Amino acid sequence: MRFDLEAHFTFSSDISSIKKDMEKFISDANEDLIKKHYKEIANIEIFKIEKNSLFLNIVSYGNFRPHNALLQIKNSLGKELGKKYHIGIREIDIHDYKIEFGLEQKPLKDISIPFAKVKSKGKQVTIILQNVSEEFLRRNYIDRMIKVVKEKVENQYYEGKGEFWESIWESEEKKPIWAKDPTEEMVDLGWLKQGPTKGKWFYRPQIAAILRTMEEIAINEVLKPLGFQEIIESYVVPFDIWLKTGHLEGMPGEFYYVAEPTTRDVEKWQRFIDLTKITKEISFDELNKNLSTPHAGICYAQCPVIYWSFKGKTISEKSLPILVYDKTAVSARYESGGRHGIERVDEFHRIEPVYIGTREQLLNLREKLLERYKHVFNNIFDLEWRMAWVTPWYMQQAGKIGDDSIQQDTGTIDFEAYMPYRGSRKESEWLEFLNLSILGDKYIKAFNIKAQKSELWSGCSGIGLERWAIAFLAQKGLDPKKWPPGFKSYMKELPKGIEFL
Ligand code: ATP
Ligand code: ZN
Ligand code: MG
Repeated sequence: MRFDLEAHFTFSSDISSIKKDMEKFISDANEDLIKKHYKEIANIEIFKIEKNSLFLNIVSYGNFRPHNALLQIKNSLGKELGKKYHIGIREIDIHDYKIEFGLEQKPLKDISIPFAKVKSKGKQVTIILQNVSEEFLRRNYIDRMIKVVKEKVENQYYEGKGEFWESIWESEEKKPIWAKDPTEEMVDLGWLKQGPTKGKWFYRPQIAAILRTMEEIAINEVLKPLGFQEIIESYVVPFDIWLKTGHLEGMPGEFYYVAEPTTRDVEKWQRFIDLTKITKEISFDELNKNLSTPHAGICYAQCPVIYWSFKGKTISEKSLPILVYDKTAVSARYESGGRHGIERVDEFHRIEPVYIGTREQLLNLREKLLERYKHVFNNIFDLEWRMAWVTPWYMQQAGKIGDDSIQQDTGTIDFEAYMPYRGSRKESEWLEFLNLSILGDKYIKAFNIKAQKSELWSGCSGIGLERWAIAFLAQKGLDPKKWPPGFKSYMKELPKGIEFL
C-alpha cells in the first residue's frame, strides 16, 4: 500500500519566527517514525511554513497509516509549543489523501464509495480523499473504506454466479398425494384469507391448527429432547443490535421499520384527531409531524436479540452449552416481488433455537439436531427432502469431523422439500423449510460474551412454521385421511372451521 497525505496545522499565532524549531521537531518525528516502522518506508516532510500554518506531506509504503502519525504529531507538537511558546494548535486540515493498494483481481467495472473518489488501473486502486476532518481520521473510516472497496470488487466476481449449493443428503423419492398449490386450495376452501396488507395472511382455524401442530412437533420431538429452554423476547429490534450483527448493512431493504410517536400529548395530536373525525381520511402530513424517524425494526430473525440478552455476560461453565429458543416473536421481511402463497410471506412465524457453547459442544449438538430433524421429516411427515451446504467452505472455518458427510465446522445447512406443484424434481426449485448454522465466534465477539474458561461459539436454526406446513401439505394434500400416521398421531382431526353463506 502507498499512502500520501497532505495536511496543514493552523496555530494560534504566527510561527515563522520559530521555523528552525519547527523543522527540528518534524525531523525528529520523522526519525522516530522511521525507527518505529523501519520495515515500512515512511517519510514526513515540511513543504511550507507560512504565518500561522505548517504544511506537511507524509508518505508511507506498507501498512503504516500516515494519518496516525499526523494525530501523534498534533499531540506532541501541541504540548511542546504550548510549554515553550504558549502557542496552541487550532486545527488540522487534510487537503489531500491518496491511498494506493493492490487487489487480488482487477475490478470488472467502476467502483464508487462515499467520501472519496476511486480510480483503478489493472489490479491497482487509488482512493482519493479531499478536505477530510480530523474526526474522520480518528474514527477509522479509512480502513473501512479500503475494506468496502475490496468487498465490492469481490462481489463483482460473485454476481451472477448463483448461490453456493452442495448436496449433503437426500431422502428417497416419495409419491406425492397431489400436485396442487396448497395455498390456492386453502383459499378456495376458506381455511385461509389474504391478509389486510401485502404478504400477510389471516389463518382460519384449520390452517392455524396445522401451524400449531408443526410448532408442537418441533418442540416435542426436537427441542425438548435435546434440553432447549424457552425464552420470550421482544420483536422490536433497535438498530444498535442490527449494527452489531451486521443485519443493518446486510439487508436494510428487507426490514419493516418501527416509528414511535414523538409525543402522546393529546394537544399535539388534536389536529390529527379533528382532521380524522371530519374527513374520515388519514392526513399523512399531519401524522408525520408527530412521528419520529425509526430507530428499530420488526424482528428479522430471533437470534440477534437473544445474543443481545447475553451481551457482556460471563457464562458459568455449568450452563454450557446454552440451549434456548424463542417461539413468540413474529418475523417480518419485505419480500417484494418474491412473495408467494404462505411460503414466502412478509410476516411469518418461526421458532428459533440458539446455542452457545464450545466448538465440540456445538458440533456434537449439530449431530443430535440433524438426527432429531431427520426423525421428524422421515418418520412423522414422511417427506421427500434433502440437505445441502449453502456456505462455501472458503468462507468458513473448515475441518473434518467424525461423520464424513459433514466437512465443515461452521456454515449453514439448508433443508429443502420437493414441491410437486412446481414441476419435476430435477427442474423445479425446492423449498427451503429449515436451516441450521454454526457461526463460530462471530456473534460471541460482537456481543462480548464470555465463559469462565471455554472459548465460545454459537449458532442457530430457523424453524419456519409456514414453510414446514406448506412443504408437508404440498406433498401430502389437505385430506387428513391421507396423511401419514406419524402426523395423524399429533393431529387427529381438523377443527370444524367456519361456514360462510
Ligand atoms: P429464502 O432463501 O427462502 O429467502 P432465507 O435464506 O432468507 O430463505 P433464512 O434467513 O435462512 O431464510 O431464515 C431461516 C428460515 O426462516 C427459513 O428456513 C424459513 O423457514 C424461514 N423463512 C425465511 N423467510 C421466510 C419468508 N419470507 N416466509 C416464510 N418463512 C421464511
Ligand atoms: Zn439466527
Ligand atoms: Mg430470504
